[in-house]
Parts: sequence; C-alpha cells; structure tokens
Amino acid sequence: MSEELETKESKNFIEQIIDEDLESGRFDHVQTRFPPEPNGCLHIGHAKSVLLNYGLANEYEGKFNLRFDDTNPTKEDEEFVESIKNDVKWLGANWEDRLFFASNYFDQMYEAAVKLIKKGKAYVDDLSADEIREYRGTLTEPGKNSPYRDRSIEENLELFEGMKNGEYEDGEKVLRAKIDMSSSNINMRDPIIYRVAHVTHHNTGDKWCIYPMYDFAHPVEDAIEGITHSVCTLEFEDHRPLYDWVVNELEYEMPPKQIEFSKLYLTNVVTGKRYIKQLVEDGVVDGWDDPRLVTISALRRRGYTPESIRMFVELCGVSKSQSSVDYAMLEYCIREDLNLSRPRFMAVLDPVKLIIDNYPEDQVEWMDVPNNVKNEELGSRKIPFCKELYIERTDFMEEPPKKYFRLYPGNEVRLMNGYFVTCTDFKKDADGNVTEIHCTYDPETRSGSGFTGRKVKGTIHWVSARHAIKSEVRLYENLVDEEKGKLNEDGTLNLNPNSLQVLENCYVEPNISEVKPEDKFQFMRNGYFVADMKEYTPEHPVFNRIVSLKSSFKLPKN
Ligand code: ATP
Ligand code: MG
Repeated sequence: MSEELETKESKNFIEQIIDEDLESGRFDHVQTRFPPEPNGCLHIGHAKSVLLNYGLANEYEGKFNLRFDDTNPTKEDEEFVESIKNDVKWLGANWEDRLFFASNYFDQMYEAAVKLIKKGKAYVDDLSADEIREYRGTLTEPGKNSPYRDRSIEENLELFEGMKNGEYEDGEKVLRAKIDMSSSNINMRDPIIYRVAHVTHHNTGDKWCIYPMYDFAHPVEDAIEGITHSVCTLEFEDHRPLYDWVVNELEYEMPPKQIEFSKLYLTNVVTGKRYIKQLVEDGVVDGWDDPRLVTISALRRRGYTPESIRMFVELCGVSKSQSSVDYAMLEYCIREDLNLSRPRFMAVLDPVKLIIDNYPEDQVEWMDVPNNVKNEELGSRKIPFCKELYIERTDFMEEPPKKYFRLYPGNEVRLMNGYFVTCTDFKKDADGNVTEIHCTYDPETRSGSGFTGRKVKGTIHWVSARHAIKSEVRLYENLVDEEKGKLNEDGTLNLNPNSLQVLENCYVEPNISEVKPEDKFQFMRNGYFVADMKEYTPEHPVFNRIVSLKSSFKLPKN
C-alpha cells in the first residue's frame, strides 16, 4: 500500500470530508467552533466535541472559535460561562482571541430574518402553539398550510417589526420560514424561526423581546463567524436540510457545512446535563465537581489529567454509529498517563500496628527509596524505618487460606524498602479485632544491602507510626451500575449506595507533606491518588483515589 493511501485510510470520516472540500475548492481553509449552551457544566461528551473541533482546526492550520450559544434566555445562566471557559482552557483547547457570544449577533439575525421576509421566504403566523402543532401533521401525514401563510411581504415586515417592538404577548405571533408543509422531513414544514419572549437576557438585557430559534440561529452564527465545518452530534442530522436552506436563502458567500458524528456515551456513569443537574439539585452529589461525576470539573477534581482525556477521546475515535464506551477505557488512559510520570508513596489506608520486638526502641533508619522504580529520572527520597510501623489490616491473617503469602503467625515477609520480618505474635480486642502484631526482623536483610540468603514470597508496604501523616482518603465506586440497570422502573437513577467511602484514619509516609493540591501520585499497591484540589491542606490532607492499579480491561482492537 502506498504511503498516501495509508494516511488516507487512517483518517476519520470528518477529515476525509474536509480533505475533499479543500481539494474541490469549496473551502480554502478550515474553521471550526465549539458552541456550548451556558445552561450547565461541560461533561466528558463535551470534551470529545471540544477536542475534536480544536484538533481539526489545528491539524488543518485553521482557526477554532469558542462560541456561547446563548440565544435562549429562559434556560441560561451566566455562572456557567466562566466554568465552561475554565474547562475548555484546562482541556488545552486554545481559542486565543476568538471568544464569541451568539447574543452579540441578535442585530444581524434580525436583519437575516427581514431578508427572508423580503424574499417571500418567511411569514408572521398568528396560530397558537397548539394549532401550529396540529397543522404540522405527523410522520405519515403531510401538514396543512397556515391561513396566515400568504400574507404580503409588506404586512409581514410590519408585523415582524411589531413583534420586535413589543406589541405582542409571548406566543401571540411567531415568524416562520416558508418552506414546505408537505415535506417528508417535519423540520422543513415551515419551522418557527423567531418567537416573542418578554425575558431579560444576561447579555442584551431588555433590548430584545423576540428571540431566534436554534435551527435558524445556529447556521447564521456559523456563517457570520466564517465557520467552514460545523461539527455537531447525530440528533441534528434531520435538521441539516434546514441548516442548508437557511445558509443558502441568506446567500452567504461561503456557506458553512454541517457534519454530524455520534455522541459519546460511557458505561456506568451519568452523562447528560439533565441527569447531572438533577443529582446536583437533589444533593445526591456534592456539587457539579463531585469526583463521582464525569463533568470536566469533576474529572479534574477526581485526578484525571487533560492528557488522559485527550488519549481517551483519541482512542474512542469518531464515527456515525451509536455505542457506549467502557468506563474502564477512561481508567486505562489515566493509568497510562500516571504510571511512569508520577512518584510512588507508601500509604496505609486501613492501619494496624506492627511492632518489631528486636528493633532498638529509639533507632530511626532513613531508607533510600526510588520515587518510581520504573522511571529513574524521578530520583529518590528517604523514608524513616523504626520499631513501630503501620501495615494494612488485610496484610495479616490469623488463619490464612492457601496461597496467602503475607503475614501470619510464623511467616516471614519482606517489608518493601525495609527488612524481612517474621510474625511472632498478635493481640486482639474483646470484639476479636486484631489490635497489634508482633514480629522480629533480620538485620542482614536490609533492602539494598544485596542480601541473597533466602527468598520470601510476600512483600508488603508500611509506614513508620511515629513519622506517618494522618490523612483522609476517599474511595469511589461508580454512581450507577450498567449491569443492574441505570434507571429504576419509575425513570429515576438506580444509584449505587457505596459510591463514596471516606476513610479518616489513613497514614501516609512523611514525604507526602511536600505535595500540593491537585498533585497526583501512586500509593503503592493501593492505586493512583490526587490531593483534593478543594479540601487538601497540610493540616488535614485529603486524597481522592483516581483509580485502582489493576484492571481486566483490554484495549479494543483497531
Ligand atoms: P447534553 O446532551 O448533555 O444535555 P447538550 O448537547 O445539550 O448536552 P450543548 O451545550 O448544546 O449541550 O452542547 C455543545 C456541543 O457539545 C454540541 O455541539 C453538542 O453536539 C456537543 N455534545 C453534547 N453532548 C455530547 C456527547 N455526549 N458527545 C459528543 N458531543 C457532545
Ligand atoms: Mg443543547
């Protein structure tokens, strides 16, 4: 296969369309946009759209616009504008000086509507919303013309101006495109393009009491900005004929082209602004950035990096077929990103004391430890070893099953970066909980001493009880479980009651005092963690588990 063919094949269908458009001369450059509606926070699905649009602009040395689609004042909230800007920036999509608001085009949109009226392509309709619905027909029946459809251009101009000037109540009149009431595509049956709404807009205040409908506004916004490829999701496929109708009737010189791809869905999580909003409002989660959500701000707080999200979006690819991606693939990406790049600390999440009876009371040895055994470049650090340590409760068993190689009476294990120890005794409280474990150490076996005398099968981690820093650790499970069904019969979310587990009594090696909020690292054997960006303080360290270390997930072929 020639090199040229190879690269052509590895391009996604959107890139192939762009290539053809550049070749045929339909466009001489590429300009894309991300057009969020400021009515909620961005989620992982939006990240795909942001990175796709930004990536295309970059690849073709074109431009990328961030445009707030703020044409519906009843549903929007300015607070989301800042959060969306933050998220897009954090993802690495740089809009430079091309930040736009659709509401800044209201004058041009009004003019565009007037142009349609003058061409006899739009009319003011007095039918009520219910009547319009009735006249629209169904999938199997054509619609009927409105009795107001044949108003003269002069009358339409006058009435539309009246709408603008506040002479009518909400719903009293609408402006409709004059297309075809018998079209097989219901979107083409004289869609409403302007409505009366006496609502204050966060940007334009009370200047307007008429607002454009999405299907009219969006192509006009794209055309005004000189967008070439207007990439959106599949639910707009049936709206494309209307998109084309608008940009053609308005006679834009280089009309933009709409291309649809399928939305990203993830298993075991809640996407969709509506559901996320509900969880936030019901107090099920602690705000839009609760680490169990997949909003961008939540993923960030959970410890995901922009790099890991970019890798994930790339692995997902773009297509027109609807499918869900395994959440485990997102986890795979963050493991890949953090594995070699971050240091590894020792932390004990469920501590029990290990006392080395033959170790001198006041002695402290500072062990030299590589920060990441797989990446020498990360250097090394010293960790204190002494008589009293904490180990994980699960690393000791009074009566071990077969193949349990960790601590039990009489067994010898390696303390990672320390010595070999042999369990000699343990104590229990009245309830039968182990309260302390006793052992002896062999001074010959110090880590790094080159000792080869004998081998042990188990290696466990530990922290010095005297030096360790008490910390809070938060462990997460998915909010919903795909296999058990995401929704209950009544349509509410079937929530996992164990989605958050807070451990308040964890001990971390003292080097952790050097981390800052949002730093990420491995706690050996326990997973990848992040210092919580909101609640971590040196006095009260809080760590969120991003992901555990192991998974049965395998990358899908292709
Ligand atoms: P939601 O479906 O979560 O309510 P939305 O589509 O209403 O989101 P918008 O602010 O209108 O949110 O979307 C901005 C852009 O993001 C649109 O171009 C939309 O197609 C895209 N987008 C939204 N959800 C997804 C998704 N799951 N996967 C890919 N792109 C998405
Ligand atoms: Mg929307």
